[in-house]
Amino acid sequence: MQMMALAASKLAALGATVNSVNLGSHQLPDGQHLPLPPVILGELGKDPQNPTVCFYGHVDVQPARREDGWKTDPYTLTEIDGNLYGRGSTDNKGPVLAWINAVETFRALKLAIPVNFKFIIEGMEEAGSLGLEKLLEEEKQCFFSGVDFIVISDNLWLSKKKPALTYGTRGNACFFVEVEGGDKDLHSGTFGGIVHEPLMDLIALLDSLVDPTGHIQIPGIYDSVAALTEEERKLYESIEYDIEEHKNNSGVKKFLYSSKEEILLHLWRYPSLSIHGIEGAFHEPGIKTVIPAKVIGKFSIRQVPYMDLSVVKQQVEEHLKNVFSKRNSPNKLKVSMPLGAKPWVADVNDPLYKAARRAIKTDTTTLKEPKCLQPSSWRYQSYVGSYMKRPAQRLTTDRPSSQN
Ligand SMILES: [Zn+2]
Repeated sequence: MQMMALAASKLAALGATVNSVNLGSHQLPDGQHLPLPPVILGELGKDPQNPTVCFYGHVDVQPARREDGWKTDPYTLTEIDGNLYGRGSTDNKGPVLAWINAVETFRALKLAIPVNFKFIIEGMEEAGSLGLEKLLEEEKQCFFSGVDFIVISDNLWLSKKKPALTYGTRGNACFFVEVEGGDKDLHSGTFGGIVHEPLMDLIALLDSLVDPTGHIQIPGIYDSVAALTEEERKLYESIEYDIEEHKNNSGVKKFLYSSKEEILLHLWRYPSLSIHGIEGAFHEPGIKTVIPAKVIGKFSIRQVPYMDLSVVKQQVEEHLKNVFSKRNSPNKLKVSMPLGAKPWVADVNDPLYKAARRAIKTDTTTLKEPKCLQPSSWRYQSYVGSYMKRPAQRLTTDRPSSQN
C-alpha cells in the first residue's frame, strides 16, 4: 500500500494525472477478507499527433528476510561495487523507476517527449495479479482506448553482455491436489499400518507427474505443442547463452540437458512441470510421528502455444483420478486449478520490436523468456489489441526474487 502511494506521488510529480483504482478485497482460504492494493492508472500527454505508449510495471515483491541468506538488509537499497542490492531493485521497482527517470530526463533537458504515456502500476503481480484482469476488461474502452503500444520491462537478459527483447512467455497453470483422510491427524503408534495415509497417496500422485528425464507423464499433454520447424531450431543455434554461467547462478551441479539448444528449447519451447510444496505435511525440524489428515500438493505446468488451458486442466484431473483409483484408497481426492495464465507470443518483426532494437543500439537476443512473470501479459494484447514488447532491463545474475 505504501509503495503504491509512493509510485502514485512519483507519477503525479511528473505532471501525470493519476487515478488509484480500488480493486476491493480478496478472500483468503480461511474466509478472512484482505483489501487489495489499488492499481495506478497514470496519464501523461494527450497530443493526438503522437502515438500513445502504455507502460506496465509492478512495485510488489516476493517476501525476503535477512535469514534467507541476504548479505544486506533486503529492504534497504545498498550499493556495493556500483551494483544496487535490495528486494525489488530489479524485479520490478528498478525498471518502473527507470521509466519515470526517463521522463524526468526529457523534462530536465527540455526535450519534447515524442509520445503520450499511460502508466499501469500494480501491487499484486507476485500474487498472481489478483483483480487486474477484471480491471483490464473494464478499462478496455476507457483507459486503454487509444493505446498504440504496450511495454513491459519485467524480465531477464539471457547473458551478461547482450540485451534481450522478449517475444513470448510460457503460460502457467497452477494446480492443487488435495487428499483427505479422516477429520483429524493420527498418531503412527496407534494407527500406523492400518490406515490409508493421505500423504502416501499424495506422494504417489505427485510422483506420477514427471519421469526422471523431465518428461511429463500426463497422457495427451504434448498433443497440442506446436511442432518445431527446422528454421526455428536454427534460431536457437545463434543465441548467445552460457550454460556454465546459468548453472552457477542456479547453484545446481547438473542440468537435465547438456546442449545449449536442448536447454533453451526446454526452457521456452516445451512445457514443463514443477512441484512446489505440500500443505499440511509435517515440515518443521525434529520428529513428529503424525499421520496428517489432509494434505495438499502444489504443482504447476508451464504451457506453450497451442496448449489449451481447459484441456490441460482436464488432462491433469483425469490422470490424477486414474492414478488414485489404482490405489483403492478410501480417502477423498480433490483437484483444482486456482490459477491459469495462457502462453503468449508476438511477432518479432512488428514496429515496436524494430524500435526497441534501434533504441538499444546493439545486437540483441530475441527470446522467449525462461520465466513467466506476469500472468496477465497476454491479456494486454487481447484487450488492447496493440503491439507489445518487453525490453528486459535486468540480468539473470540479478537474481530476481532470490537472495543477493
Ligand atoms: Zn516482476
